[in-house]
Amino acid sequence: MPTFEKTLRCSKGIVSGLARWFDTSVPEQAEEINPHKPEWSRLAPFIFMHLACCGVIWVGCSWTAVGVAAGLYVVRMFAVTAFYHRYFSHRTFRASRSVQFLFAVLGNMAVQRGPLWWAAHHRHHHRHSDTEKDVHSPHTHGALWSHMGWFTSRQAFATNAKAVPDLAVFPELRFLDRFDILVPFLLAWALFGLGWLLEVVAPGLGTNAWQLLVWGFFISTIALYHATYTINSLSHMVGSRRFNTSDSSRNNFWLALLTLGEGWHNNHHFNPGSVRQGFFWWEIDLTYYVLWAMGKVGIISDLRPVAARVYEHAGRHASNDSSTDGTREAA
Ligand SMILES: [Zn+2]
Ligand SMILES: [Zn+2]
Repeated sequence: MPTFEKTLRCSKGIVSGLARWFDTSVPEQAEEINPHKPEWSRLAPFIFMHLACCGVIWVGCSWTAVGVAAGLYVVRMFAVTAFYHRYFSHRTFRASRSVQFLFAVLGNMAVQRGPLWWAAHHRHHHRHSDTEKDVHSPHTHGALWSHMGWFTSRQAFATNAKAVPDLAVFPELRFLDRFDILVPFLLAWALFGLGWLLEVVAPGLGTNAWQLLVWGFFISTIALYHATYTINSLSHMVGSRRFNTSDSSRNNFWLALLTLGEGWHNNHHFNPGSVRQGFFWWEIDLTYYVLWAMGKVGIISDLRPVAARVYEHAGRHASNDSSTDGTREAA
């Protein structure tokens, strides 16, 4: 290819890569896609998010900033586990259009792309768990790729609307999905503004604009990122298997605490249609407890229970519930 054409093509690629940060519908360059190669335009913001956490060296710390970061971690993790996962991906309960939108916005604040993108990839994961087609299996493409590589590839960028026709009928969800940077951008600005306000009206709290931005947005989001990613990586490698599913999913108490209940991943792969992922009273599932309370006061409805076959199966196989050696079991 002549040099001029090559330069032009490269420039177009850079421009369209940058444009997709703001509008995910900008078409990709028609090139061969390597599914296992990180894309610079995805990798750069991901690295920036991590580097921005180093700002803590200059902005320092306060209880207010730590509290805001922790609060945003919990609220956004709940929105991801309860709505992005259990509602949008698996439809395990019903919600009104306004509740659905509210939690789609809160989930979008987690900076893990839009609800359609998230649900489409997750449904794909359940259809092809731990096979070559699974984009984030630690067994087919390695632990690092499953944890934080797959979503930087060009292949994983687009939203497959055909996988989520039930969600794609809502224009407000399509809008969030298309402009998925808008809500995170507003959150960052709101935190900056809140920090500035608190510095003026409540200087005793010891916080300021830059400190709330670094703690509330960057540090909280990075913690949220890696906790969420453990369900793709560690939850298919470390823990016990109650059910002999065709994938390598595992139950892990510590990951369940970290992710408000998602660590009961082997349970979930066996019965993905259940709103509850901790199937027994000792399997702490904080997301379910909140959803149960929301159901009681009428915010959501028709919570789908754990299937009866789960308890029959669990009883029959109780003696085999001790596989913790990290190896994959047969289907
Ligand atoms: Zn899984
Ligand atoms: Zn799932």
